[in-house]
Amino acid sequence: QRTELAKLVHEKTVTADNHHVELAANIGSPNDLAGVLANGAEGVGLFRTEFLYMGRENFPTEEEQFLAYKQVLEQMGEKPVVIRTLDIGGDKQLSYLPMPEEMNPFLGFRAIRLCLDNQELFRTQLRALLRASVYGNLKIMFPMIATLEEFRQAKQILEEEKKGLQEKGVAVSDRYEAGIMIEIPAAAMMADQFAREVDFFSIGTNDLIQYTMAADRMNERVSYLYQPYHPAVLRLIYNVIKAAHANGKWVGMCGEMAGDSIAIPILLGFGLDEFSMSAGSILPARQQVSRLSLEEVTKHTEAILSMSTSEQVEAFVKSVLDKKDI
Ligand code: PEP
Ligand code: MG
Repeated sequence: QRTELAKLVHEKTVTADNHHVELAANIGSPNDLAGVLANGAEGVGLFRTEFLYMGRENFPTEEEQFLAYKQVLEQMGEKPVVIRTLDIGGDKQLSYLPMPEEMNPFLGFRAIRLCLDNQELFRTQLRALLRASVYGNLKIMFPMIATLEEFRQAKQILEEEKKGLQEKGVAVSDRYEAGIMIEIPAAAMMADQFAREVDFFSIGTNDLIQYTMAADRMNERVSYLYQPYHPAVLRLIYNVIKAAHANGKWVGMCGEMAGDSIAIPILLGFGLDEFSMSAGSILPARQQVSRLSLEEVTKHTEAILSMSTSEQVEAFVKSVLDKKDI
């Protein structure tokens, strides 16, 4: 089994009927790259940049950040690297950025909300990203976007920083992309509007599920409601993928769900382009995809979207997989 998987390290990810999807890795620091490459990732689908800010006494400088981003981009070569701007707040706090206590931290002042309000912090990170853009295939991603105005504002700040760098003679790539995480139901519902303006979507199911089901992802007492296969969640995901494709944009997923063996056939049938997961899940996922036919999983989409419960979805997918011995 191990050696069979090892054979897939340098292979592309293709279905039994020869359709390519991209399997990428989630990373939390440049130190994770060795594992990513050893597991044959086709890209980095989520680089969480919080590590640069956490466990220290002050903000990381532009230079420090630039070096970290450059390192990841260089090591990945031509492969795409999605770097997410700071997603602090909620459960993640910084000692040097005191914030008032909130009644509902996960519904509070975090991620893009905090960045748009602390523009020096945000602009510093964006300059570091733009300077690093010439070293690889960079996709910049904004987290926790709820409204179009937030994306427009973030994009405008990015453009301003790009112009500022160029005026100083600093090289910036002309092919980086700017996209958003879809992890708030409002954004998933409005995906058709967002899709005209963004370069890509990446669906953050860890948060999308908790916000859709109103069930805290850390609270054991409501964990029974945290249901990745709930048709409400699946319909949102489907809506996002269709909206992206209708506008010629690609869509990935970087929540835990992307590496789940029940979810993979569903998402493949929905048309998801990129699956980003922990490095250790990549080879098993590649093997599973190679045994699935895109044509066949697509046929099940309508039935799945019309189901009433998670349990029903799960039982259905399991029976399909069992029949094929996958
Ligand atoms: C998500 O919400 O699915 C996600 C990938 O982001 P995080 O887990 O960092 O909130
Ligand atoms: Mg999230």
